[in-house]
Amino acid sequence: MTRKPDDFDPELIVLGGGCAGLSLVARLLDQRPSMPIVVVEPRTEYCEDRTWCGWRLNDHFFQDCAIAEWNDWRILSKGRSPLLRHSSYPYEMISASRFYDKACRVIERSSHATLLMGAQAGLVSEAADHVLVHLADGTILRSRYVIDTRPEPRVLKYPWLWQNFVGYVVALGDSAFGLDDTPTLMDFQDAGPDIARFMYVLPCGSNSFLCEFTNFSQSKDETVLLEQELVAWLNEHAVSGWRLLRRESGSLPMAPPPDATQGRVFPAGTRGGSMRISTGYAFHRIQRWADECASSILATGAPLAPRRSPVLDGMDELFLRVLQQSSVSAGDLFGQLFHRCPTDPLVRFLSGVPRPRDLWSVARSLPWGRFLKAGPSLASAYATKMRESR
Ligand SMILES: Cc1cc2nc3c(=O)[nH]c(=O)nc-3n(C[C@H](O)[C@H](O)[C@H](O)COP(=O)(O)OP(=O)(O)OC[C@H]3O[C@@H](n4cnc5c(N)ncnc54)[C@H](O)[C@@H]3O)c2cc1C
Repeated sequence: MTRKPDDFDPELIVLGGGCAGLSLVARLLDQRPSMPIVVVEPRTEYCEDRTWCGWRLNDHFFQDCAIAEWNDWRILSKGRSPLLRHSSYPYEMISASRFYDKACRVIERSSHATLLMGAQAGLVSEAADHVLVHLADGTILRSRYVIDTRPEPRVLKYPWLWQNFVGYVVALGDSAFGLDDTPTLMDFQDAGPDIARFMYVLPCGSNSFLCEFTNFSQSKDETVLLEQELVAWLNEHAVSGWRLLRRESGSLPMAPPPDATQGRVFPAGTRGGSMRISTGYAFHRIQRWADECASSILATGAPLAPRRSPVLDGMDELFLRVLQQSSVSAGDLFGQLFHRCPTDPLVRFLSGVPRPRDLWSVARSLPWGRFLKAGPSLASAYATKMRESR
């Protein structure tokens, strides 16, 4: 859908019509259909390019786009018996094409909103009372505020890592080993040269599955190697053959977002730090941010940046340091956490919205010897950060 902006300045320009951009715009227009908004999106059409999964802790605007949900799921790590967990929060799978369709319908219904497809934003320049956005075709847009969700090129330094993955949605033949109606969130494999490697397997109905090979690594985009591992895993498990229906891949930064000075341009989505560092889950955090940001815009006119928790960031940093410094494997660390911690507190923690007591439950479940060893290196990292910020 492409419409040219009307001949007046929109109240808001959103760079990127992906998960964060559309989550916000759909809420705003649902409540105020006449709001002048421009969304800039380079794609010329949307498709089922991914599914978003995660625990639904609260109702959200796109929950009718879910195509499956489970309360039971399992974790597998070598040397431990399979761990089946039941959470009161459903683990839901949101179809990207349903999500895009719903958001586009809300935009189409509104009288003053424009989704500019096939358009690319370049330079964004801020003045005292407005922002200018330069598009690749020479158009210049002007607004009071900009939400920027464009992916950013990043270089990650220790202790931050990349979470690289390749996923196939496959249709299976009659017999398959280890594939059933229960999702496997982590099936740890030998880490090889990486910090961690695991399979992620979700049943998608009609004997089809999303099977994803993931690593945590210092290097980005290792899709060729991951794809070989994925194919080998499928050949071993899908005994009577498999057929590829759809492919997805990505490299997610397991790192805090770069510092952004708060002016009239608000980074959001992955760019704004909505992704949980140690897990890569972002969809449901984006939904919570979109609720808060839409309420703020409707009440005051000004957006809100995604909220960050120094406690969670600190715990994630410590976790990544332990993973890289000690001989303990990711399978052992996650395995111990999933075995020892009660499920709902752990789910709230992994989703980035723990209650104070949940932090205690998680902390009690970790192998403290390993963490104390990483303590001095974390303390020195914070001392360096403090010196740099002065
Ligand atoms: C394949 C895949 C599967 C994932 N699965 C999950 C999952 O199951 N659960 C979960 O919680 N998270 C998942 N994630 C992580 C995260 O939730 C998603 O990446 C999510 O889409 C992030 O939202 P976003 O708005 O930040 O980025 P995006 O949804 O990628 O949106 C960014 C948008 O910016 C646009 N853009 C790029 N350049 C420009 C430009 N110059 N000007 C304007 N716009 C531009 C892009 O076209 C895109 O539409 C997944 C990520 C990937 C890649």
